[in-house]
Amino acid sequence: MSSAAVMPSSVTVRVPAKVNLELLVGAPREDGYHPLATVYHAVSLYDEVTVVGADDWGVGVSGPQSLGVPVDESNLALRAARMLAEVGEVREPVHVSIRKDIPVMGGMAGGSADAAAALVACDRLWGLALPRTELEEIAAELGSDVPFLLSGGTSMGSGRGEVLAPVLARGSFHWVFALSETGLSTPAVYAECDRLRGETPVKHPSSSPQMMQALRSGDPRALGEALQNDLQAAAISLMPALGDVLDAGLEFGALGGVVSGSGPTVAFVVENNEAALDLAVSLTASGAVQDVRRATGPAHGAHEISGPRPG
Ligand code: ATP
Repeated sequence: MSSAAVMPSSVTVRVPAKVNLELLVGAPREDGYHPLATVYHAVSLYDEVTVVGADDWGVGVSGPQSLGVPVDESNLALRAARMLAEVGEVREPVHVSIRKDIPVMGGMAGGSADAAAALVACDRLWGLALPRTELEEIAAELGSDVPFLLSGGTSMGSGRGEVLAPVLARGSFHWVFALSETGLSTPAVYAECDRLRGETPVKHPSSSPQMMQALRSGDPRALGEALQNDLQAAAISLMPALGDVLDAGLEFGALGGVVSGSGPTVAFVVENNEAALDLAVSLTASGAVQDVRRATGPAHGAHEISGPRPG
C-alpha cells in the first residue's frame, strides 16, 4: 500500500449505463449461459458510488432510480467491495452510498455499473492500485457486463459478454431512452427467448459487418439501421407495450430504435441534440412514454470524480 498521507477518506466514482447496439444470442451452453456476440456502448446516464471507511460493511441508495435496489448483502456494489477486500487482504469495512440515475432492471446494466464503480472506488480508497487486468478479472466474476463498465466506450463482447475487444468507432451519437415503470428480469427474458425459439436451430453468434461499418462511419442513420437485439422479441412478448413504444419513437423521427439488453428500456438514436429534445418531448407529450432520458455515447467507463481536479 502507498503512504497513509495520500490516502483519501472517501472516494466517489461516476459510472455510465450501457446499451447493446447489437445483441446476438446463441443457444444455451451446458452451464446454462447463452454465448453472446454483442456491441456494448456506454452512454452518459450515470450512477455515482461513494465509499467511505466505516465500522461495519453497509450500503445505502438515493436518487431518482433508487426504488427496488437492494440495500443488503445482495447489492452488487457491496459484493464488489467485499470481493476486492478479500483479494487485497483489506480488513477495513466501507459504507457504500449509491446515487442512482440508471433505471433498475432496465436492461442498462445498472447493478453491474455500480459494481464496477465500487471496484474502482475501493481500489483507490485502500491504495491498492491493482493492475487493470486484475480488476477486470474480479469484475468478470461479479457479472458478465461488469468488465465493460470499467472501460466504457464502445466494445465488442463475446463469451458471456465478458471477453472484450475494441471496436473502431467514430464520433459520438445522440440517444433518447424511453423508460418503463416496471422492470424485466434478465433470466426471465432469456427463458422467453429460448421458449420462442423452440426447436429452431440457432447458429453461433458473430457480430455483423453492417454494424462494424456503421460504427466506422460514425453515421447515425447507418447505426439506426444496424441496431439489432435477439432478445427484443422476448422482451415484447413479456411486455407487449414495448412494441408500441418502438413504433411511436420511429414515427416521431428516430433514425432507429431497439430494446436495450433484456429491456424494458427502449433506446432511440437520433441525428443531433435538437432531434433528441424533439423526440423526448413528442414521446412524453403524446403519452406514449411516461419518462425519458437523453444521453450521448460513447461515455467513459467508471472514473473517479472526487479529489483534486485538473485546472
Ligand atoms: P442487465 O442489463 O445487466 O441485465 P438490468 O439493468 O436489467 O441488468 P439491474 O438494474 O442491474 O438490471 O438489476 C438487476 C438485479 O440486480 C435486480 O434484481 C436488482 O435487485 C439487483 N441489484 C443488485 N445490486 C444492485 C444495484 N446496485 N443496482 C441495481 N440493482 C441491483
